[in-house]
Parts: sequence; structure tokens; C-alpha cells
Amino acid sequence: MTSVDKQKVANFLDITGDFLGSGYRSEPKDYQFEDTYIDITQAAAKPETSEDTIEKIADEIRACKDCALCEKRLNAAPGEGVSQPVVLVIGEGPGEDEDKQGRPFVGRAGQLLDKMLASIGLSRETNCFIANVVKCRPPDNRDPRPEETAACAHFLERQILILKPKFILIAGKIAAQTLLKTADSIGKMRGKFLNLAIGDSVFPTIATYHPAALLRSDEYKRPAWEDLKLLRSKIES
Ligand code: URA
Repeated sequence: MTSVDKQKVANFLDITGDFLGSGYRSEPKDYQFEDTYIDITQAAAKPETSEDTIEKIADEIRACKDCALCEKRLNAAPGEGVSQPVVLVIGEGPGEDEDKQGRPFVGRAGQLLDKMLASIGLSRETNCFIANVVKCRPPDNRDPRPEETAACAHFLERQILILKPKFILIAGKIAAQTLLKTADSIGKMRGKFLNLAIGDSVFPTIATYHPAALLRSDEYKRPAWEDLKLLRSKIES
């Protein structure tokens, strides 16, 4: 989040506090915030080339044998959506349905994700691209291992650099921890925008609960909805 954005939010909260408290507006404060900036470029194993395209990356992903996940996959799921997305959604990795179809987020969690996106005017058909941190299914839906996410990282980074999404929405703890290089819980990471830096580009990014978590427990629905509303307000601004 930029220092300017942080200042705006702080001012907004101050005004709200004044309103709910005394009813009188206090003097605006200058908080001297710093930009939040997270660099994931070290993971870039292979540089982007000027001829790089989404289709070329997808072909490479389908042929990839760089980690053990290739051995049991039926189909890799490179990602899908529009070429100039407002939002790039990044999940963890394909599950059983995605492995069968070679498409991301098409199972139950995917159907919920589509509904969540639709609730704020987004869809993979019109203004989003959907991708994953790893492109092949981890057996028995286990978490991807560090060597697997590392081997796959250059695909996602190249996708991001080509797609140049206006915003990134990270779905779930594993994807968020991998991309934001932290062991923090989603509860700690969510509810705010972070800057994700790849190469020379910086992408405003928000992390929220994975739709599969929402299917398991109602407690995540409200915070996920708050995150979606925050994303929508940022898109609209
Ligand atoms: N969960 C994910 O994280 N990604 C998918 O593509 C499907 C389920």
C-alpha cells in the first residue's frame, strides 16, 4: 500500500472516529507512513523474453517436467481468462476436477469463486484471469512443496508480467504465503492492500480466504466479503 493510500485510510478512520465520538472534526494528522513493498523477484528462475506470450507459457507448462508433480498429473492447468485483466486471481494449485479438465478453479471451490467474483462485477470471461501458484495437481490435494512452488514460480511471474493485471487477488494461505514470502496467517495478511513487486512492476494485491475454506466454515464468509468489497472499492477508485 502506498503511503498516500495509507494516509487516506487513516484520515477516513479519524473522521469516522470523530463522528462516532465527539461529533467534532479534529485537525487532520500527517502520519508519515511508508509504502509497503514486497519483492518476490528472487524466485525468477527464467527471465521474461520479449517474445513471451500467455499461449507460449501454457504450452511450456503442459510439457513441463521440472518437478515431481508432472508424474501424476492428468492435465496441467496453466490458467485462463482475458488478456488484459482488471484482476488476476491466484490460487494454490489444481485439484481433482482441475486436473481432469486442465482448467483452474472448475470444481466446487471454483464455482464459489466465480460467484464471489460475480458479486463484485468480475468474471473470467470478461475482466479476470485465473491462475495458480503450481500448475499441476499435488497428489491427494496435499499442499505443494517448496521445491514444487519454486520450480513453477517463473511461469506465474511471466504470466503476471504479460497480463499486467490492475490488481491481484490471492486466494488462500498457501498462495499468499508463497507469493508474499511470509509464514503469517491469512487472518493477518487479509483486509488490506499490499504491493507485490515483480521485476520493475508493482501490483496492488489483496489476500483473502480460499473459497474451499468458505465451503468448510461459515466463519470465513464475512471477512472474505469484506475483502471483496475492499477490492471493489479500489477498482472503482
Ligand atoms: N483450488 C485452487 O487453489 N486452485 C484451483 O484451481 C482449484 C482449487
